[in-house]
Amino acid sequence: MMPAWPENIARKAIVDFAAYSARGGSTSALHLDANESPYAPPPVRGAEGYNRYPEQQPPALLQRLSALYGTTPDRLMVGRGADEAIEVLLRTFCEDRQDNILICSPTFGYYKTCAQIQGAGIIDVPLTETYQWDTTKILETAKSAKNLKVIFLCTPNNPTGTIIQDDLVEQLCQLCPNTLIAIDEAYEEFSSAQSYISKTQTFQNLIVMRTLSKAYALAGVRGGVAIADPRIIRLMLKVLPPYPIARPVEDAILAALSPAAMSTHAARLDEWLAERERMFTELQKSPFIEKVWPSEANFLLIDVRDDQNLMRELSRRQVKIRDYRSTTGHMRISIGSPEENSIALQAFGVSVEEKRPDRIGEIHRKTKETDISVRVNLDDATTIKTDTGIGFYDHMLESLAKHGNFGLILTCKGDLEIDAHHTVEDCALALGAALKEALGDKAGIGRFGFVMPMDETQARVAIDLSGRAAMTFKGDFPTDHVGEFPAEMCPHVFESLAQTLGAAIQIDVEGENTHHMIEASFKGVARALRPALARSGTDIASTKGVI
Ligand SMILES: *Cc1c(COP(=O)(O)O)cnc(C)c1O
Repeated sequence: MMPAWPENIARKAIVDFAAYSARGGSTSALHLDANESPYAPPPVRGAEGYNRYPEQQPPALLQRLSALYGTTPDRLMVGRGADEAIEVLLRTFCEDRQDNILICSPTFGYYKTCAQIQGAGIIDVPLTETYQWDTTKILETAKSAKNLKVIFLCTPNNPTGTIIQDDLVEQLCQLCPNTLIAIDEAYEEFSSAQSYISKTQTFQNLIVMRTLSKAYALAGVRGGVAIADPRIIRLMLKVLPPYPIARPVEDAILAALSPAAMSTHAARLDEWLAERERMFTELQKSPFIEKVWPSEANFLLIDVRDDQNLMRELSRRQVKIRDYRSTTGHMRISIGSPEENSIALQAFGVSVEEKRPDRIGEIHRKTKETDISVRVNLDDATTIKTDTGIGFYDHMLESLAKHGNFGLILTCKGDLEIDAHHTVEDCALALGAALKEALGDKAGIGRFGFVMPMDETQARVAIDLSGRAAMTFKGDFPTDHVGEFPAEMCPHVFESLAQTLGAAIQIDVEGENTHHMIEASFKGVARALRPALARSGTDIASTKGVI
């Protein structure tokens, strides 16, 4: 009797043998059945359970990955990368010296390698000149080829970055019911295309490969999946070697896919795609480059012109890119971090506008009396917002940021029902600490700031961001309050600021109106801070080399 689908297209040997039983996982039972050690390995944090074999397909991992890819655990096989899924697929379905696979070159090299190891024949239907799939030719070949077991379609394709845009996949699934249509979606996260995962429910001969190596930054951990009809998955699981997912691997994957980690991945992906745009635009200015191909993945395919000089520049700067010149005449460059990309651009002879990261300081300070959140940006003063609950103090702090030319977002919930003291003092302490954090190593800053006495101002302020706290205040206020703000708190604000910022602040104020005198003090400090905080170059403004 003919075996049922998909046994009828699988290798006979695979169908005939009983799967090796790899018992794993520990339960509350007494496990004396696998010759494991009863001892946990000597203290490695989190090593509990390392003495037991893991489960063949760890259930928690299957659950998480099914949710990630929008499928169910019975349709998923998890292994050591998408590479292992490719290998197991061929070992399950391709008979040595009998069966064939179809690829569309240039494409990911491992399909061919696996086929060669397995003894399967390779039929190549190359991509067109613009790296699109030759739909007509592929359909014709698929229809006429004998013993064609797997068609590999990589979309977005490595190394071209192109995606399948028509209904080639659906047509193939219908045209060749006894051929598996294997869609490699290693770069799906970077692309605008729809995943084929949900279509595995419509087409029993469709199989999709995904990896955690690229978008989820886990190349060193080795994790990837095949998603298909449960009958295909069950056959492939007979071939998958025992215990492919080590316990630390499972832990690392689950941690990297936690809810908090997912928001990091999303933010990074935005930056990554923006960098792809930047590299696509900027590389076209390179004297070494003939053409940059648009890409839906995290790399760009480039046609290079003057490769001798380019190779010298790349090696001088220790930049490695993938060289396919001997086979396809191309090179492929991965999109790195903004800093890495800038170095690569320089190697390509493209001048890069140096953008140093903004100096940002963030402090959260919570005591019994106040709860303060403050963020300063020394290089972007667009946003200035304060809410301390004391109108006049808000006005003074905003004035400090405005004239000091730094961004400030400060909110404070304080015990104002007692008095303004704690709020005023703690905000000043938190602000000083945030400014200090933002200053970092202080490279390039002016350090000192002076406002010389001028006719129309009554405050003379000198500042040194020396790292050492000191404050002197000379001045007598004619009244003791401005609104709810006690005048005596004015020197105290600067004392607190000096303390956490690590600065010497000297103020000398003369006048007849308390409001004006306090305001002049804040503005004077701000004007003195402005050049002290401003950054130009990378020099440390000290003969000692540190501030
Ligand atoms: C990187 C890559 C893979 C391999 O993924 P792993 O999960 O790391 O094995 C598979 N297919 C393509 C097209 C790739 O570029």
